[in-house]
Amino acid sequence: MANNEDLFKKIISHAKEYGFVFQSSEIYDGLSAVYDYGQNGAELKNNIKEYWWKSMVRYHENIVGIDSAIFMHPTIWKASGHVDAFNDPMIDNKDSKKRYRADVLVEEFIAKTEDKIAKEVEKAVKRFGDAFDETQYRATNPRVLEYQAKIDNAKGRLYGGLEKNDLADIKKLIEDLEIVCPISGSRNWTEVRQFNLMFSTQMGSVSEDANTIYLRPETAQGIFVNFLNVMKTGRMKIPFGIAQIGKAFRNEIVARQFIFRMREFEQMEMQFFVKPGTELKWFEAWKQERLNWHLSLGIPAKYYRFHDHEKLAHYANAASDIEFDFPIGFKELEGIHSRTDFDLSAHQKFSGKKITYFDPELNESYVPYVVETSIGLDRTFLAMMSFAYTEERLEDGSERVVMKLPPILAPVKAAVLPLVAKDGLPEKGREIMDVLKYDFNCQYEEKDSIGKRYRRQDAIGTPYCITVDHQTLEDGTVTIRERDTMKQERIDISLISNIINERLKVKR
Ligand code: ATP
Repeated sequence: MANNEDLFKKIISHAKEYGFVFQSSEIYDGLSAVYDYGQNGAELKNNIKEYWWKSMVRYHENIVGIDSAIFMHPTIWKASGHVDAFNDPMIDNKDSKKRYRADVLVEEFIAKTEDKIAKEVEKAVKRFGDAFDETQYRATNPRVLEYQAKIDNAKGRLYGGLEKNDLADIKKLIEDLEIVCPISGSRNWTEVRQFNLMFSTQMGSVSEDANTIYLRPETAQGIFVNFLNVMKTGRMKIPFGIAQIGKAFRNEIVARQFIFRMREFEQMEMQFFVKPGTELKWFEAWKQERLNWHLSLGIPAKYYRFHDHEKLAHYANAASDIEFDFPIGFKELEGIHSRTDFDLSAHQKFSGKKITYFDPELNESYVPYVVETSIGLDRTFLAMMSFAYTEERLEDGSERVVMKLPPILAPVKAAVLPLVAKDGLPEKGREIMDVLKYDFNCQYEEKDSIGKRYRRQDAIGTPYCITVDHQTLEDGTVTIRERDTMKQERIDISLISNIINERLKVKR
């Protein structure tokens, strides 16, 4: 889809116009990087959650789900490393007064340089045709080598600087690479500073009793600290997983990409506990399983790619992202991480409680290893909106915007539309609605021309429109119109449920 700002803007305004996503506190001029979900957005979001929950918790007999509190004992965030190290390096441009993530500025430089290499290769393919040997070209072409050296140098200094917390060198790197502020165009930068992303607040009404607590920056820790509870009460045997959906909060430095990067967002996470030594096998298995989940929604494979991490967090021994081709380019949608025994061991140490599993086959106890799958609910929402948004020119010359959402996720599954609001058609429509509404989220509409009502349903992604006309009163048939093909068929009222149900089945 490549970088397509216009399309992104259109999706954002469509999301607002049709009740999917609103800026938080809009009548007070908004709150930056915080969003509210409207009547259609809330349905879409709930459907995504339900689809994830069912595929993770219900279809896997060895995964159970919990719902832990947002507030937790502050020492948890000490143990997890978030108090000391959940930082992003930030830098301000003195002219535009805009704040950036220093690492992102360098990563964007790297991405641009990689694009330049790709362009050189593309030109060479055209020039040399069939005789072209890309590996050799990349290894010998002076211009490509020069770009590659710049990339290697930038990566080495950035990752080295982050690891050693050498913020002065990261600033120097930004200067050496001659990176300019996209707003002011200047290179007038402040020093680089670390910025902790956790929101804190006080618990307790008297300030002397006050205890600093944090709004959780991830849901995972709520799972780790409940490991023993769930293992014992659920009589769980390794390998097993614990899943959870819930809010997370991060004081993101740069938050200018609609619901892609929010300060309050929702995660769907699953921690899978395994025998030490088997974690890489499970890591591979979960990578594949999660990709299959995305594909099962019927979205073409070209929208997804893996990005294996070169630089691993200190606790991980493998990590990969599933990236989605958003209108702003390929970006992270989900992370799959092999977290070793880092979290459980840390909680064991900080809490002083033994956190082990007794393996009856080995006749010994160990701290389990963990493979995590962590997906952003809001980013999945945005991925679905970006994929679905389609502008079409119809045969009669008119245009429509249709949201080709996977039917199982569509906010409204069917709209019941009496052709005219008289002659007993509304009553018949209500009768049909009253049967369907217990199984599906349906809408009943009788205002405006039938064409206008179809367009409104297309714009929110309703897979079926059911039209009640005079013939319905005579022979008990309706027309059913399919969203994507706009084909209409006459069917018996008794078949409506089956047709909708058929469409909601997913490929597994
Ligand atoms: P990024 O590199 O984009 O900041 P991350 O690697 O910090 O993301 P994780 O900590 O792995 O993200 O969180 C797991 C998932 O949670 C991400 O894949 C993403 O979908 C979602 N997520 C993380 N931060 C945000 C945010 N600020 N707004 C919306 N979703 C988010």
